[in-house]
Amino acid sequence: MRRDLCYITLMSKVNLKQFSFDEFDALVRELDWPKYRAQQIRDWIYQKRVSRFEEMTNLSNSDRELLETRAVLSAPELVQRQRSADGTQKFLFRLSDGQEIESVLIPDDDRNTLCISTQAGCTLDCTFCLTGTMGLLRNLKAHEIVDQVLWMQNHMEPDQHLTNIVLMGMGEPLANYREVTEALGRLLHPKMVGLGPRRITLSTSGLVPQIKKLGESGLNVNLAVSLNATTNAVRDRVMPAINKQYPLESLLQACRDYPLPPRRRIFFEYVLLKGINDTEADARRLLRLLKGIPCKLNLIPFNDYPGAPFGRPDDETVLRFQKILIEGRLPAFIRKSRGRDILAACGQLRTEAAANPTGLSIPMFS
Ligand code: SAH
Ligand code: SF4
Repeated sequence: MRRDLCYITLMSKVNLKQFSFDEFDALVRELDWPKYRAQQIRDWIYQKRVSRFEEMTNLSNSDRELLETRAVLSAPELVQRQRSADGTQKFLFRLSDGQEIESVLIPDDDRNTLCISTQAGCTLDCTFCLTGTMGLLRNLKAHEIVDQVLWMQNHMEPDQHLTNIVLMGMGEPLANYREVTEALGRLLHPKMVGLGPRRITLSTSGLVPQIKKLGESGLNVNLAVSLNATTNAVRDRVMPAINKQYPLESLLQACRDYPLPPRRRIFFEYVLLKGINDTEADARRLLRLLKGIPCKLNLIPFNDYPGAPFGRPDDETVLRFQKILIEGRLPAFIRKSRGRDILAACGQLRTEAAANPTGLSIPMFS
């Protein structure tokens, strides 16, 4: 018998949000309930997104009471909500152990993209990224990743819904592989959250073995790779921990080998840092490096923050860089920076708790 499930028949309360798909089946078996009850409960949690057992109206009173006494449904607590002049919103959530994370909602014409966190802080130390300065506080659990999506779906205007999910908030998703892939499984499962794989994008700084594993996992979500440099010397400077372990050659080989579903491409992200990686020579090297990989490139002019060690190139430099790529037949887009006024744009996420740490933080990578 699974340890988690034993709890339901013993005394302490178990959090049903922690259950994998199969654990709901095991739960109803253990309680001697009819088999279909597992899907009823999954529907209440993932489709109707209720927060209390008393709302599960197709369960009998006694069944609801049993759940009430033996189980809980966790939910993140909203601590702060900030709105940018451009409509982007940043949400600060407190988790059950007091740890804080951020999610960002980015409305755009016919899309609502939610950017979610996978770690409190980050394992890595990219020198241009504010989250990187926090160190890793802890990995998020699968349900804490999924809860950001459920919470947002519950709090949007009735005529709005989430169209896209990007794992580009705080943290390196592939450094928390097990919980992140479990979360993706729940987001994709048609009998749980039920999102399409093309609507989800996982962004990684380049953990080569985990990129390979993700490719073999069959999850089929979009893969985005943060390249950010065209030579190992510059990448060592801007992404030291990751590039020393997996230099450019091994990262690009993993991208070449990545089993893409038909008509799909890898997204490369390239943060443009003034005077560091924004030259015409960089643009031409980029063309050579990415030759033969079915891909699109997103150029992200550096988003500034107080005390940042880098600058943002001017628009002319960014446009010249893009022009060289397009002339070289690489589809290259300039990512609009959204929510910069509330520090909600890429790389600007850092919780105040981490800015003024009172407890221990576990420093990064080993
Ligand atoms: N850890 C993952 C996902 C989170 S970072 C990764 O590195 O891919 C999401 C994106 O924000 C990455 O492409 C990263 O390069 C970019 N980024 C980080 N700091 C930034 C900043 N200050 N300005 C612009 N983009 C930044
Ligand atoms: Fe972590 Fe990504 Fe920031 Fe690097 S860019 S420190 S991997 S969140």
